[in-house]
Amino acid sequence: MKVLVINAGSSSLKYQIIDMDNEAVLAKGLCERIGIDGSKLTHKVPGKDDYVVETPMPSHKEAVSLVMEALLDADHGVLKSLDELSAIGHRVLHGGIEYTDSCLVTPEVKDVIRANFDLGPLHNPANLMGIEACEAAIPGKPNVAVFDTAFGMSMKPEAYMYAIPMEYYDKYKIRRYGFHGTSHKFVSGETIKFGQLPEGQRKVIVCHLGNGSSISASIDGKCVDTSMGLTPLEGLMMGTRSGDVDPAVVQFICNHDNKTVDEVLNILNKKSGVLGLSGLSSDFRDVKKAAGEGNERAAMASNAFIYRVAKTIGSYVAAMNGVDAIAFTAGIGENDVEYRGWICEYLTYLGIEIDKEANKKRGQNIMISTPDSKVKVFVIPTNEELAIARDTKEIVEG
Ligand code: AMP
Repeated sequence: MKVLVINAGSSSLKYQIIDMDNEAVLAKGLCERIGIDGSKLTHKVPGKDDYVVETPMPSHKEAVSLVMEALLDADHGVLKSLDELSAIGHRVLHGGIEYTDSCLVTPEVKDVIRANFDLGPLHNPANLMGIEACEAAIPGKPNVAVFDTAFGMSMKPEAYMYAIPMEYYDKYKIRRYGFHGTSHKFVSGETIKFGQLPEGQRKVIVCHLGNGSSISASIDGKCVDTSMGLTPLEGLMMGTRSGDVDPAVVQFICNHDNKTVDEVLNILNKKSGVLGLSGLSSDFRDVKKAAGEGNERAAMASNAFIYRVAKTIGSYVAAMNGVDAIAFTAGIGENDVEYRGWICEYLTYLGIEIDKEANKKRGQNIMISTPDSKVKVFVIPTNEELAIARDTKEIVEG
């Protein structure tokens, strides 16, 4: 069974085709600059040179047609006919309160994606365009929507409600949703499997630490809490996002710098986090290097990130009344041996002991805690495309 996975952004479209018999990636690629000058498709097949097509893509429709041509191309393709495709799985950012799991796309599902444009203004419209482009290009094939918010839907009201007047929930469904859900679900599931966590000992904290960062707490793979909120701005400090701030900061900057709320929100989303504090870069490698060379602001930015991660882990231990395993994933979590070590230095009160040799490895499933550690600590590479393909397979097979 071959599944096409589509992740459509406002001006880009990423894809992978996965053979679900062995979960191998047959081809993957990216359409860039959709709707703007200089559109380009880069198609990659393992063991072959990249196939690049530079041609106008006024909309996602043309992008999907080009992807189909690349998949069928005599030299660079991996399919003889589109009939070989069993289904298409789509990453969809926001399923609102309606969807607690992935589902087959129907007109009602599209209505819900549309109804949630307000909550995912950058992503939901693009996600819907990707779905409609696939429906037009490959008619009759099942499309599956995999919502990034679905994982957070198992949170209880005490975790997801903001303590603001109830009318805002009733009118606008303002609540905490959480994001990176596909990654948290995948990594918590892999942690249980790889770590062979027995029943009753499946309290897992996943630290998805990348340019965007979030942490989740789950029991038996079901989310108890997660650090992002109504939008991905809440929670940890990130590459360019501030994470939690007192909302009064927004009013204060508006009043003192004569800015609009939108302008301040833009600062909190794009100019804050380690970039804002260090004044140097949003890339943790640059910030770490500068800190190592004696740059005090870079060191403070780096330390603030580590501190908040450790503090959030501690709060989730409290939320679950314990933790059995902690998993690191995404760009920093999978690759940055030092950040993992620094975060774990805060966690010795949990009886965590890190195996320094194991912690030198990167990019594969590994246990980095010692056999005596009271809590197991893992590195589990995330794979959102595979998670989407697995859900798609499960849904179309019924
Ligand atoms: P992501 O958003 O998951 O792609 O993660 C991006 C972040 O991961 C960047 O800030 C990088 O500093 C960090 N990162 C990516 N690759 C590496 C690596 N090989 N070693 C250390 N950090 C890395």
